[in-house]
Amino acid sequence: MMGTVPRLSRRTVYGVGLLAVTVASVVLFPTPHPTVPVHGPRGVHAATTTSMFTSNSPIVDGVADAATGGYWLVAADGAVFDFGAPFLGSAGGLALSSPVVGMAATPDDGGYWLVAADGGVFAYGDARFAGSMGAVHLTRPVVGMATDRATGGYWLVASDGGVFTFGAPFEGSAGALKLTSPVVGMAPTADGGGYWLVASDGGVFAYGDARFAGSMGAVHLTRPVVGMATSPSGGYWLVGADGGIFSFGAPFEGSTGALVLDRAVVAMAATADGGGYWLVGADGGVYALGDARYQGSVAVAPLAGLTVVIDPGHDGGNGAAASVINRTINGGGLTEPCDTTGTETDNGYTEHAFTFDVALRAQALLQADGARVVLTRATDTGVGPCVNVRAAIANALDADVAVSIHADGGPPGGTGFAVDTPVPVVSPISDNRAIVAPSDALSVDLRNAFQAATGEPPSNYTGQNGIVYRRDLGGLDLSTVPKVLIECANMRNAHDAAAVQSASWRQSAAQGVASGIELFLEVAQRT
Ligand SMILES: [Zn+2]
Repeated sequence: MMGTVPRLSRRTVYGVGLLAVTVASVVLFPTPHPTVPVHGPRGVHAATTTSMFTSNSPIVDGVADAATGGYWLVAADGAVFDFGAPFLGSAGGLALSSPVVGMAATPDDGGYWLVAADGGVFAYGDARFAGSMGAVHLTRPVVGMATDRATGGYWLVASDGGVFTFGAPFEGSAGALKLTSPVVGMAPTADGGGYWLVASDGGVFAYGDARFAGSMGAVHLTRPVVGMATSPSGGYWLVGADGGIFSFGAPFEGSTGALVLDRAVVAMAATADGGGYWLVGADGGVYALGDARYQGSVAVAPLAGLTVVIDPGHDGGNGAAASVINRTINGGGLTEPCDTTGTETDNGYTEHAFTFDVALRAQALLQADGARVVLTRATDTGVGPCVNVRAAIANALDADVAVSIHADGGPPGGTGFAVDTPVPVVSPISDNRAIVAPSDALSVDLRNAFQAATGEPPSNYTGQNGIVYRRDLGGLDLSTVPKVLIECANMRNAHDAAAVQSASWRQSAAQGVASGIELFLEVAQRT
């Protein structure tokens, strides 16, 4: 996060069938909890290993085992990781037609169910299979499930708010509403007589004996809500992708929202007495807060199956190939040169060398997390490719995200970085409207992560808070995948020129680029 998020003392309630009221004194993102959240070392797994599958998929949910004080994590490929809780089986060895998206424990914690996006349900331990949507074509994917503690049955919820009941009573759904944001999770009441649904914008919908205690639906959130958990007090917590916790009728026990994470939080689970909770990262990291005990974490490849295109600006041979790079190309909303030579520092360190070095470093970081990373040029000694070809490379791969890396040749007195972000441009050969919103989210993630990693301030001579909206860049006009361009520093500024020539700064820059991309992808997968 950038800066401080204001504390709100009042907010409008957003709910179903309830009068709008205001709630007082819910604390948002307070200063970091004095008990520093524990993020387990990656690769450490403290539980028994004999029953475990490894996983190359992101973690998608975490569930508390009230019987032991431990917890389970589940990955998109169905692998279950047990920490202080018994291993009862997993779908990790199956070839699933649809990714697992959620998990729920039985009332006595002697078993659990997994649910896939297609509505398929897998039961383990004393969990009873009571039906699934696996054979039905769903218009919207299932995103979560909850146990009915009264009957031992379960509910599934889809992203449109539709609720499917199996051995549990139907208490209502948001399926007939026109939601502005998708539902991302659900939580049952302690006695099983109702449930809440939560949307990515923080809106909460209460059904049955679930009490509406407030929501974030009327507040603009910097990162989407990704999950919720029930408190024995009758209230609940919501968790954002940045680890921010919103408490409603439940004690605030800390959050990671004031820390800068390089991995997205994807789920939360509360302890049996409600005095604490765990936050679960897409990479398998676990944060224990309040009376929640840290029992281990797992390292998975959170970007497995995702394609990233990194576009290092310019090329080493451009300077000697004027006739090639000066050719006019159609950039969508404009015509422009095929490519340019780029800038350099006063002492001759070139932008093309800088962008290529940062791109290679970011590629290595992203590959380590399982992504397929394609660069738009393989060397720093060639010519081009043209900016339209650079866009076409990402488009042809249907990349999940693309980032162009540059450094600016700005005024000598100007310093800082800026993220160039597309605006809607429709031309006879292009239409980037579908990528504007996700690119906007990408720009915020990249801006936050880059600033945190490098300490470089947002530009003091262009844009606002490090973000510049551009309609004059063919690379953005022509893109059909979420894409931004980052000017990492101003090579014409003495301070920035020294930074870009430092290998350790370039590694930090690459870390910032990789972290921003990862945050974006991990959240995009969830919402
Ligand atoms: Zn450039």
